[in-house]
Amino acid sequence: MLESQIITKAIRIGAMIAYFKNITETVVAVIEGLSITFSYLVRKPSTIQYPDRIDRPVQDTLPRRYRGHLEVDMSICTNCKACERECPITCIAITDSEKPDKKRWMTRFDIDLAKCMYCGLCSEVCPTGAIRHSPEFEGACFNPASMVRRFVYEGNPVPPFKPKKVDDMEPDLAKRVEVGKEFMDLFAQPE
Ligand code: SF4
Ligand code: SF4
Repeated sequence: MLESQIITKAIRIGAMIAYFKNITETVVAVIEGLSITFSYLVRKPSTIQYPDRIDRPVQDTLPRRYRGHLEVDMSICTNCKACERECPITCIAITDSEKPDKKRWMTRFDIDLAKCMYCGLCSEVCPTGAIRHSPEFEGACFNPASMVRRFVYEGNPVPPFKPKKVDDMEPDLAKRVEVGKEFMDLFAQPE
């Protein structure tokens, strides 16, 4: 009888030791965890509040081949529609109509940036570099419909660009052609 009492008492003492050991370990673990958390209160933050506390626009820090929002220089667009055909998810919509000069003037050139996956296929096939990626990436809005970028305004159709010798062009147009060529060269180069 005495022996069983001693065994029971030993078991109870063992259980109590394990109980307090658990409590001690838990308290130590909580203190360790919180000490790491609180240490961040006095450390220099490794994040920067955007966009208020940056010393220069993020757009200026992006690589030259960054694929941001698409833009189109309508003055060097030939209305070939290669970009529209190439887009795998039909983001681009171009319509035209024949004018008295027998040219097909563009009456619509829309790009739905809400659908765009920035694959760059449209700009790769453009023969003049008219459609190209800009470094712009901010597109937060309340309505996806406002992400449709229109490059031809209603009632203001745009004639197609007919490539000719740079010497025969207006200086402004020649400059635009040069910018388009630069973009094409840049995208044709490996990273
Ligand atoms: S970047 Fe890709 S998805 Fe976006 S419009 Fe061009 S081809 Fe379409
Ligand atoms: S943007 Fe380029 S590919 Fe698209 S219609 Fe104009 S010239 Fe053709």
